[in-house]
Amino acid sequence: MDRQFDIIIVGAGASGLTAGIFAARRGAHVLILEHMDRAGKKILATGNGKCNFTNEKQGIAYYHGKNPAFVLPALRQFGLQETLQFFEELGVYPKKKRDGYYYPASGQAVSVVETLLMECRRLDVRIAYNIGIREIVKENEQYSFHTKQGIFKSRCCIIATGGKAAKKTGSDGSGNLYIEKFGHKLTDIVPSLVQLQGKQSFLKEIAGIRADGKIQVYIDGEKIAEDMGELQLTAFGVSGIPTFQVSRYASLALLHGKKVFTTLNFLPGLTREEAQELLERRFCRYGGGKNADQALTGLFPDKLNKVLLKEAHIPPHKPAVHCTVQELGGLADKAQCLRIDITGTKGFDNAQVSAGGVDTDEVNPTTMESRLVPGLYFCGEVLDVDGMCGGYNLQWAWCSGHIAGVSAASVCETV
Ligand SMILES: Cc1cc2nc3c(=O)[nH]c(=O)nc-3n(C[C@H](O)[C@H](O)[C@H](O)COP(=O)(O)OP(=O)(O)OC[C@H]3O[C@@H](n4cnc5c(N)ncnc54)[C@H](O)[C@@H]3O)c2cc1C
Repeated sequence: MDRQFDIIIVGAGASGLTAGIFAARRGAHVLILEHMDRAGKKILATGNGKCNFTNEKQGIAYYHGKNPAFVLPALRQFGLQETLQFFEELGVYPKKKRDGYYYPASGQAVSVVETLLMECRRLDVRIAYNIGIREIVKENEQYSFHTKQGIFKSRCCIIATGGKAAKKTGSDGSGNLYIEKFGHKLTDIVPSLVQLQGKQSFLKEIAGIRADGKIQVYIDGEKIAEDMGELQLTAFGVSGIPTFQVSRYASLALLHGKKVFTTLNFLPGLTREEAQELLERRFCRYGGGKNADQALTGLFPDKLNKVLLKEAHIPPHKPAVHCTVQELGGLADKAQCLRIDITGTKGFDNAQVSAGGVDTDEVNPTTMESRLVPGLYFCGEVLDVDGMCGGYNLQWAWCSGHIAGVSAASVCETV
């Protein structure tokens, strides 16, 4: 096997494969070092095996990190249209689903990985598996990769080792060691797009419920984030896409010892007055012959009715028409603001991404090159950029991989 390359990329995931393809398309001789036995393992897990690879809505609002604007140059160079075209040329026919989520028409994430690998083979991008990198050193304008399979050298190095979520797919945080040795700072890394764990004992009683609603996250008493959609209640806490979307704020706050609670609103389309009116109608006008529990039947899932009544201190067998306006006011409060004190999040193994990573102050957003070490590039989730659920994390992997590959190749051209 060759030992000398223009560019060596660490990590054959979404961003590393993309960087390799775009570098090789510009004539660079590229090697990807992967410590797993296959490429793109995490891509296979995305979108429940169907790979939600981008989204028709793009913009700064869908990305987080210390400096969300860091994503803009990459999105401008390689946004939605470029991503769709790239994949269509590779053979992945895009299919748009509800909310503008894009999936491959095959419905299989494996087709995304296979088409990326076919393009790597066509362009002679080499991939060395089970690599075991001991260290990466830079001397005399060359990077040397000391591995179990010997030493490989290159002019440029791209770190595409991913975050810390789902480590069985290969992204175990080991890449961060090389990054810190090059003198780069990492921001706090926490699980994101993850379930929240709650304290309240009623959670066991409502486990299994799925209900549309709004979740709001409060940190030290201040509302920080909210999202709407299908909430999933579990014995340990709250899950579902809206919970995932706000989880990064809870994760970071808990890391810093702050108090976090969420409120769940099961009547998000109504004002407080409208919610009370609705309950008064159900209990007083139509509630003849029904008890309190039965007066809620048909509005909320059965288990939730019982918990809301208990939290509002209304006995479930109390005749509906005997419930007072004050009691129904208390019930409206619980239905629109059920508080859950958050004690933690599920860990990295349950998270879809990690928030935090290479401090973007130290990286040029138009090239992805390190501002500290020339010839060193980063792409994908290893950077302090995390996207919302909906195809944004893969979009970030494709567009940052594109920039890193193109920029590194242009440096090699001029040597
Ligand atoms: C269950 C799940 C579902 C998801 N669904 C979606 C979705 O539908 N849409 C979406 O946009 N995003 C989704 N994501 C997130 C998305 O998959 C990631 O953000 C994206 O894959 C990150 O790309 P990356 O190239 O930065 O890292 P990765 O794809 O994680 O690739 C990193 C690669 O580097 C390798 N590596 C790590 N350390 C080393 C080392 N020291 N030496 C050599 N190789 C190393 C790893 O083995 C891996 O192959 C999901 C994630 C999970 C876990």
